[in-house]
Amino acid sequence: MLVIHGGAGTILKKNMTAEVEKQYRDALAEALRTGHAVLAKGGTSLDAVEATIRVMEDSPLFNAGKGAVFTHEGKNELDASIMEGKTKRAGAVAAVTTIKNPISAARAVMEKTKHVMLIGRGAEAFAKSAGLTIVDPKYFWTERRWKELQDELAAEKKGKPVSEYAVPADKKFGTVGAVALDRDGNLAAGTSTGGTSNKRWGRVGDSPIIGAGTYAENESCAVSATGTGEFFIRWTVAHDIAALVKYKGLSVKDAANEVINRKLKAVDGDGGVIVLDARGNFAMTFNTEGMYRGWIGADGVPHVEIYGEGDN
Ligand code: ASP
Repeated sequence: MLVIHGGAGTILKKNMTAEVEKQYRDALAEALRTGHAVLAKGGTSLDAVEATIRVMEDSPLFNAGKGAVFTHEGKNELDASIMEGKTKRAGAVAAVTTIKNPISAARAVMEKTKHVMLIGRGAEAFAKSAGLTIVDPKYFWTERRWKELQDELAAEKKGKPVSEYAVPADKKFGTVGAVALDRDGNLAAGTSTGGTSNKRWGRVGDSPIIGAGTYAENESCAVSATGTGEFFIRWTVAHDIAALVKYKGLSVKDAANEVINRKLKAVDGDGGVIVLDARGNFAMTFNTEGMYRGWIGADGVPHVEIYGEGDN
């Protein structure tokens, strides 16, 4: 079983053309098929999560890898993390600008160092030494995201207060994540993002933080989050959901609902999560007007959803 998200936010059918919607549906289905192929061949959940997220990082549609949002200074600074449910090993990178696939760098941190998180230039030097693909920062540039930043900078000039968290006005996210369960019953989770558009001062969100944006533990569940990262950090969302499953015996749906639709909603913390347990039960839960999401089971048929209520 594999469940993915491509970001939560104000995603409404009325604002979407049939052509753009098809692009998203096709990209999500391709990501699901890629991960499924790994699992079907007997690959691990970790392999599936990495392969699935790489597809979404390479697509300009999502705010991860190519297509990432811009910082205030006009750069793309990427964050990612990955965790293995059986061993609770984890790896993460933050604020990297030259690593083509940050999720693979996160995995390399987990497997090839004694550390959990590497940031900035050090992480880039490590990724290079680990043999990962390094690109010119221009690789991440896309017209759509550049325009998004220019619009925000223009609005700021006109006196729009700089939002405390630099969240785009339309609250459109685009972070990607995956949670997977393999034949051996092992879970894994991963998340990758460009963060929030117009972020500054080296801001880092929840996506590379274990327990906030990503968590995996075989005894409870695997979680990947998307939304306004500051809330997901302060409410330790991914771990909180796992704790409700583990200590209170809640189902993944009830646990996700409790955290996303009660705790976070009460403080206007917007976003969503995908959650999967070791028996294959899963939830795709969000408190926004949409979340790019999908799942694929043993039969290999991808299911993709964008609008609606999710598993709320
Ligand atoms: N959670 C991400 C962050 O705060 C953003 C997102 O999910 O779109 O960096």
